[in-house]
Amino acid sequence: MANNVLTVGNAKIISLHDTVIPSRMTDFIPGTKPGDWKKYPKEVDEKGFARKPMNIAAFLVITPKQKVLVDAGIGPVPFPSSPDLVGSMLGRLKRTGVQPEDIDMVFATHVHLDHMGWCAVLDGNKLTRTFPRAKYVVPQTDWDSLFNPKAVYKRRPKDTSDQGMEIMSWSKPLAERMAIFGNIEHTTEDGQNITPELKVMDTPGHTPGHQSVLLSSKGERIFFPGDAMHFPVQLDVPERIVGADVHPKLGARTRSRVSKWMEKEGVMVASCHFPAPGFGHVVRGKGRRYWQPLKPK
Ligand SMILES: [Zn+2]
Repeated sequence: MANNVLTVGNAKIISLHDTVIPSRMTDFIPGTKPGDWKKYPKEVDEKGFARKPMNIAAFLVITPKQKVLVDAGIGPVPFPSSPDLVGSMLGRLKRTGVQPEDIDMVFATHVHLDHMGWCAVLDGNKLTRTFPRAKYVVPQTDWDSLFNPKAVYKRRPKDTSDQGMEIMSWSKPLAERMAIFGNIEHTTEDGQNITPELKVMDTPGHTPGHQSVLLSSKGERIFFPGDAMHFPVQLDVPERIVGADVHPKLGARTRSRVSKWMEKEGVMVASCHFPAPGFGHVVRGKGRRYWQPLKPK
């Protein structure tokens, strides 16, 4: 089996690479200098760049009754912070034998562009619907933060980063198009099932309503943390503030909680931003917490 395909109970998970973003940890985690990362020579180089750039991926989850995309990559429109960056995920999806019309649901862990990008394709200059039958499911609080921000930020006004807010604003044109496409539903509760196998878990901070996903099938599990963390090295320093988080302090608390939970549970993890294909476990050894990628079979 290719190393981007995993079987979990009755489900098949296929990691679909979209693109990569070169990333400097000293920018990603503001206030750190290259020297601060000396302890992690395998993960961060002497100039402060992550040795492996941030992967952008989506996961195709095939269950006996449904085909679900957990996140939908950067998509066909250049990413605002890196104008050369467009995704390749849709071609990879088709090469698995699954066509856009086969997708039953797209769940976005949050409303950032690199998680909803392929919800639309370009037809000339116009964004049109990519997955004609799919229901789009997006956390309610995140959707509100684009279309009814007062309701959200009234509850969390004191811990908001300008960078996080700017990144959030990039998503609005696409979300407006999605609203016109219709067939959008929202998750409103922690622990809500979106399919019999997939349950969302509240992991706010990166965005106000960010949710991770846990798949359980026949006693086996796999966890999709979404953007609770972006780089494996963060597992050991989850408390470090991330500039791209809308609510940086809440994000740090969530990252600490999720990192500990993944280690304690020993759960299989599918990370959209860890190096492709993003499957592995969070383990402890040599006095630190680290990422152990799944060995290719
Ligand atoms: Zn992301």
